[in-house]
Amino acid sequence: MRMLLDLLIPLFCAGCGALGTSWCARCAATLVGLRAVERTATKGVPVFALTAYGGPARRAIIAYKERGRRGLAEPLGQAMAAALPALAERLRADPPPVTRSRAGPPTPGVARPSDPLWLVPAPSRRVAVRRRGGHHMVRVAEVVAGRLALAGVSARVAPVLRLRGRAQDSVGLNVHARQRNLAENLCLAAAGVPPAGAPVLVLDDVVTTGSTAAACTRVLRRGGLSVLAVLACAATV
Ligand SMILES: [Zn+2]
Repeated sequence: MRMLLDLLIPLFCAGCGALGTSWCARCAATLVGLRAVERTATKGVPVFALTAYGGPARRAIIAYKERGRRGLAEPLGQAMAAALPALAERLRADPPPVTRSRAGPPTPGVARPSDPLWLVPAPSRRVAVRRRGGHHMVRVAEVVAGRLALAGVSARVAPVLRLRGRAQDSVGLNVHARQRNLAENLCLAAAGVPPAGAPVLVLDDVVTTGSTAAACTRVLRRGGLSVLAVLACAATV
């Protein structure tokens, strides 16, 4: 069946166009690494990306988000999961600020080592989710959680960041307008929020100004969660 489908719809690499694979080894090698992302908007927020937003990584992210290549969730999620040991090392060396739980001491919400890591996808506008036939970062987060499970690490996906309906598409907005747009329209879902003090990793596709990363972190921390870091596939340079 796969071969028949390949004949009808030839498979090609989303990064370089090579035939016979959806994501070739050479392009996969460009989505490896971990770099700290420094932006004015992200002071106090540890933000990391696998690579620079360009070349095969950029083409793959666009193909995945906007051209219906949903299968790319798999390599994107795998690449993010592969970066987590290095991320853990970085955070051990330079820990993020501790979020005090709302309850105060004694804190029922402080995370224990046996607690799961919560993966929170950066939000998409509802209209974009509809257009893409689903929330693209939730799919990637599920792949990350699956890879972590294989490594014996318990992780859960919690898509609890919401953009209210009136949020604008951030494309074309300057940094200040983006920040205002997000500050006014980003909120936590009414249900499904991890327990207070739970360790959270925010997952996003691309970091540009860092406004989204900062706003997500602010909202989650305000909700009593312990945001370890924001990890994106790529960051603009
Ligand atoms: Zn390729």
